[in-house]
Amino acid sequence: MTVLQKNFIGGEWVDGSGITKNINPSNTNDVVGEYAKADKAQTEKAIAAAKAAAPAWGRSTPQERFDALNKISVEILARKEELGRLLAREEGKTLPEGIGEVARAGQIFAFFAGEALRLTGEKGASVRPGLEVEITREPMGVVGMITPWNFPIAIPAWKIAPALCYGNTVVFKPAELVPGCGHALSEIIARSGIPAGVFNLVVGSGSVVGQTLLESPDVAAISFTGSVQTGRKIAQACVLSNPMKKFQLEMGGKNPLVVLDDADLKVAVEVAVNGAYFSTGQRCTASSRLIVTAGIHDRFVAAMTERLKGLTIDDALKSGVHIGPVVDQSQLDQDLRYIKIGQDEGAKLAWGGELLNRETPGFYLQPALFTEANNQMRIAREEVFGPVACVIRAKDYEEALAISNDTEFGLASGICTTSLKYASHYKRNSEAGMVMVNLPTAGVDYHVPFGGRKGSSYGAREQGAYAREFYTTVKTAYTFPG
Ligand code: ADP
Repeated sequence: MTVLQKNFIGGEWVDGSGITKNINPSNTNDVVGEYAKADKAQTEKAIAAAKAAAPAWGRSTPQERFDALNKISVEILARKEELGRLLAREEGKTLPEGIGEVARAGQIFAFFAGEALRLTGEKGASVRPGLEVEITREPMGVVGMITPWNFPIAIPAWKIAPALCYGNTVVFKPAELVPGCGHALSEIIARSGIPAGVFNLVVGSGSVVGQTLLESPDVAAISFTGSVQTGRKIAQACVLSNPMKKFQLEMGGKNPLVVLDDADLKVAVEVAVNGAYFSTGQRCTASSRLIVTAGIHDRFVAAMTERLKGLTIDDALKSGVHIGPVVDQSQLDQDLRYIKIGQDEGAKLAWGGELLNRETPGFYLQPALFTEANNQMRIAREEVFGPVACVIRAKDYEEALAISNDTEFGLASGICTTSLKYASHYKRNSEAGMVMVNLPTAGVDYHVPFGGRKGSSYGAREQGAYAREFYTTVKTAYTFPG
């Protein structure tokens, strides 16, 4: 019998008012689990619990925060194989990718355990005689977290860990498609010794649970990762709420990877295949535009096609699989719709794009590579969020750079070159928050800032020490000692 997994509100595990089924995209007959859905009243209870717990947690010592975050990190890392399997089963990433993501979540908690001990302020002389000025950081209060399905444990970790580190309390809403990892993470956090109400889990829909978080005057800040469309709604709601909420948004990408004539072809193909297709292309940092200069273009396309032929697309839990299934039917429909759009626009489908049958019923799609695309096509402008990439031919570096920047997004970008001159120029002139040289656009460190520009991101950066900009508010205090 399936155990119904509950929500965590005010230190108690509670039933919801509906059930969401977690389906394995590699085998739709496999129900990963059943999760209680929170309604509006329960979400309000979670917010009230977080509000009640906020003053005491805001005054907790760095040692208490370190101990809790460190404990969470140790348990996640100790269970990375088991949790990685759960992740691969519910989201469809391959098992090594799943285990890697869980390990990442553990490392993030370790990083912020250390950061809890490092939070200091500044003290200086005033411009007025005899006064002292202190600049300190205080927690925001209750922070709502709305997360997507594509990184079911790493994204919650890189929001929850800094929130707790800097003394905030949390109401966490995982994506409905993948509540398993969010739930497992919540169990670990619940055992960490933090007081009741400091952390709350509410599984449910964006329109009910998400909306309640946005409407509540007691939620001081919202950290969101998801689509541009939802991001805009969240921004509007945060500005209209009274008091206004602080918010940060991580949204889409249409990330370019430039391949220059002087690139090492082997490196470029590995970088492109990894960036465009691993994790089934379901990463906001995926390289979906491969901008290739004329001299290497044909060799690159031939080598890419050869490499793609050798990839195994199958059940995420099987060993030796390179790419798992698409996450669900609606994402698969979107991928197929864009593959058709690309063909209708006149791009050439050089490889893949067809549905695959495997032993179990799942959402298997052969990774698609378009060639002869141009940057005005919808497949080059709109985020597909699947294993679909297009090659755009450029005359030279200057044209490649211009195409690379000609997008409404600006999350990540990359260049494959052996030229120091072009690499340096591209790092300076690429209009993206993260720039990679001879590396996939996806794949980042956890101790440095993550985020983009233009339509990809809004608000303070996530991760690393920069995370404190979002999770704290600055206070300037003046004293006249007399
Ligand atoms: P994705 O396609 O990556 O799931 P979405 O933007 O649809 O992107 O969803 C990201 C997160 O935002 C999910 O947790 C989802 O439930 C939530 N969400 C969706 N719509 C709303 C909304 N109107 N208000 C608040 N949260 C929402």
